[in-house]
Amino acid sequence: MSHNVLVLNCGSSSLKFAIIDAASGTTSLTGLAECLSLENASLSYKLNGKKYKIDLPEGAQHDAAIAEIVSLIKQQHLDDSLIAVGHRVVHGGEAFTGSVVIDNAVINGIENNVALAPLHNPANLMGIRAAQTAFTNLPQVAVFDTAFHQSMEKQAYLYALPLSLYKEHGVRRYGFHGTSHYFVANEAAKLINKPIEQSAIITAHLGNGCSVTAVKNGKSVDTSMGLTPLEGLVMGTRSGDLDAGLYNYLSSTLNYSNSQIDAMLNKQSGLLGLSELSSDCREIEEAAEKGHMQAKLALDVFCYRLAKYIASYVVPLGQLDAIAFTGGIGENSSLIREKVINLLSFFAFDLDHDANLAARFGNAGVIATNPLGAKVLVMPTNEEWVIAMDAHKLVEAQ
Ligand code: ADP
Repeated sequence: MSHNVLVLNCGSSSLKFAIIDAASGTTSLTGLAECLSLENASLSYKLNGKKYKIDLPEGAQHDAAIAEIVSLIKQQHLDDSLIAVGHRVVHGGEAFTGSVVIDNAVINGIENNVALAPLHNPANLMGIRAAQTAFTNLPQVAVFDTAFHQSMEKQAYLYALPLSLYKEHGVRRYGFHGTSHYFVANEAAKLINKPIEQSAIITAHLGNGCSVTAVKNGKSVDTSMGLTPLEGLVMGTRSGDLDAGLYNYLSSTLNYSNSQIDAMLNKQSGLLGLSELSSDCREIEEAAEKGHMQAKLALDVFCYRLAKYIASYVVPLGQLDAIAFTGGIGENSSLIREKVINLLSFFAFDLDHDANLAARFGNAGVIATNPLGAKVLVMPTNEEWVIAMDAHKLVEAQ
């Protein structure tokens, strides 16, 4: 029996897709639609090892991109082997603690969380509706970024605000990147030969968005993102943690509007804001290497915040077996990893420089160990495979 799942990951202006064998993780088709809603919308994909790129009509949205993807899949008869469509959904609120087969109640549940993820949940819903129309016979499965973190306890997820805001409006910390933290923690436990049910692992997902999670015995007990993906670490263009008093200062003293504050914190801050150069970590590292002082400053702030978060997560864990780096930065930047390990001097990690340099381009490996046996490792993530595995599991159970 086939295990092939079409995985759709609809972002606010992009759409990643893949056909993945849930059993092996191998892909027969991967692709990306970019600049959706803009004049230069395009679709690129890789099929049987060959790369293709086509322009989409000006202003094309997710449904137009999905129509192209569907016709490609049907032309190539790839749909014959599909068993399900798996959708990444960003915000499941408290309603979803795991992946689910999509029905009308699930669609309503995703709609109910639009206010908490106004850019992402509507795009996810558009993807779900387009896929339902195109593949009427296939089960659709939703996999939520927030679900893995629903195991957090109140002490970790409540803000110290009037409790009515939580009770009446769901204002609390939810956390994101759940599929990545789940996958990486499980793979990390395998790499260090520990049963996941008896392990204490800190996972650092460092991509354009960045978050760190404390995973105790396989469950998320704390994570750095909050009500929205803005809280926590310094990211490519997001500020991460700041003093909430800033809002009043910006609006009353500097006359910023709500939307200006929102755009500044989400799109003009982080590595980009500090370096005034780029949000791209690789470019920043290259500039810092050539003596660009603001690029160096951006890296320093990024690493210092990250090291502080990692150190603080020994509180919910009570012990430490491993710190696992993942995401584009975590999997490739030996510089960031080295800086963070140096900042964590209290943990007395002995960094293996050769292993640190070798762990990139998809290579996993242990790069440091301390006298108590805790390890630092690099573990490539694979969120799409988690989505395919969950979809396969749910379809089998039906
Ligand atoms: P997304 O969160 O959009 O999925 P990725 O996980 O692909 O993003 O991460 C993108 C980030 O990874 C960018 O900041 C990019 O510069 C960084 N990155 C990729 N390769 C390297 C590298 N060799 N060294 C440093 N940073 C890298």
